[in-house]
Amino acid sequence: MARLPEEFISQVKAANDIVDLFRAYADVQKRGRIYVCCCPFHSEKTPSCTIYPDNASFYCFGCHVGGDVIKFTMLTDNVNYIEAVKILAQRCGMALPAFSPQDRQESHFRDKCYEINRETANFYYQNLLHGSDKTGLRYLKTFQIRPETVKKYAVGYAPDDWQILHYHLRQKGYSDTEILASGVCMKNQNDKLYDTFRNRILFPVVDFRGNVTGFGAGAVSQAQPPEIYTGNTPVSHQNQTVFSLHIAKKEMISKTLILAENYFNAIAIYQAGFPNVIAVPDILTFYQIKAIRQYAEELIILSSPAMHCGEIQNIRNLCGQAGISLRIAPVQDAFDSAEFLKMHDTETFRNLLGNAGDAVQAVLQNSWEQFDAEQDKNQMIQESIEILSKLPPLEREVYMTETAQKLEIPVEMLQSQLDANYQPKKAYSNKSRSLSKEELSVLPKRNQKKINAEQQLLVYLVRYPEDISHIRKQLSPEKLVTDADRNLYQLICDNNGNLPEYPTELKKILLKYQDFDFNAQTAADCITVLNTTQKQVIL
Ligand SMILES: [Zn+2]
Repeated sequence: MARLPEEFISQVKAANDIVDLFRAYADVQKRGRIYVCCCPFHSEKTPSCTIYPDNASFYCFGCHVGGDVIKFTMLTDNVNYIEAVKILAQRCGMALPAFSPQDRQESHFRDKCYEINRETANFYYQNLLHGSDKTGLRYLKTFQIRPETVKKYAVGYAPDDWQILHYHLRQKGYSDTEILASGVCMKNQNDKLYDTFRNRILFPVVDFRGNVTGFGAGAVSQAQPPEIYTGNTPVSHQNQTVFSLHIAKKEMISKTLILAENYFNAIAIYQAGFPNVIAVPDILTFYQIKAIRQYAEELIILSSPAMHCGEIQNIRNLCGQAGISLRIAPVQDAFDSAEFLKMHDTETFRNLLGNAGDAVQAVLQNSWEQFDAEQDKNQMIQESIEILSKLPPLEREVYMTETAQKLEIPVEMLQSQLDANYQPKKAYSNKSRSLSKEELSVLPKRNQKKINAEQQLLVYLVRYPEDISHIRKQLSPEKLVTDADRNLYQLICDNNGNLPEYPTELKKILLKYQDFDFNAQTAADCITVLNTTQKQVIL
């Protein structure tokens, strides 16, 4: 991380009034010497966030987030420490001090990536409008995407060409290293660069400061694989990307956000008169939910029949953790929401959103629709059991009664089938236990380092279940040094992150690290620490 002089950081802190910063995000009220407001970082109706102007700090008694103006900016803008200081310095017109040569180089590299992304967005936008290949325009026309929408999102078209963008960027003076880092070109076996996106509609991802951080690229025919995205670059991380949030933030009038199936559908929904729409590149992550909950109290997901119930379950868990309510709008008799909007008018779509309902209900309903209620009752029961088995016990009971009514069978029958087929896995073996304070205090330092690493990795796995299979291949359970953590690791892996209930030990660990941001690099570091062989103390 770059180092900034302490004195400069103090000046930046002093120059930015913490109450002013909060005012952009919340309705701040004075209470004597302090100020209170509803917390910008979790959803609530009565204020539990307190601002202390005397020492320029804040603390939320609801979600226990707190800190100074820099921490505040890190959270609101989803940036690291240095970036937050830069934003605050810019905000009050302070020039940045001289950085070390390495820091200057890093910063220069990031700036170049932003420039290349902007240049790429513009190049493909011009190409869509004026290029000789009209495939992109024709495709947008079949979905009635209007010119003003194209302009608003700077939608572009990458022609069917391996070199055109690379050539253009080289002409503009960018080096292959810079171009490669930005993700818009890739390298072949002979070390030659080629364009990442070809014969695709391009959607630039824009952040709150108007920087282009990456791209989504939609197919123009059914024969192509669906939307693809730029991977991780110095200016963006796929796990943290929320498409169109900069527009939703400005234009939304309610506290509801709609999560579209992909970027293209988000644009179609925006055009239909719903600016409160967003999309994410892959499955929804903890980071994205954190960004979403700054603006929304409710999330509506548009689910196509193909949407996996595990995926919905994952979203439910994340929303539950973040305190956001969730509804599901099943898109029926259409492939997805863009096609739905092509077939129906805005009012029908508004009704679809209005009728969005409970997530579990939607999943159950979806699973039944493929069957004939008279002929396939047994399969319907099996499907329902599969879904019910993944719910926490209390919720399972509620839905079990409803399901039994819907399927017109006695609830006992459902219960006995559930018990027979899905013996809940023991949370972890009875032998396992956490270490007492005394035991912990005699552990050698190096083991403590491993314990920290394994606990951080557990938190990472809960937040990013999509990485479980990948990490499992790199770290065998024997490498974990405490029984308790090893059992948790196995439990999370075996269930692919879908735990009906978090064991108390895991809850404690999650709580301990709730304010820490972990990324793929953290996980990789933890794995390295755990895979390092050294004489371990057997516990
Ligand atoms: Zn809070």
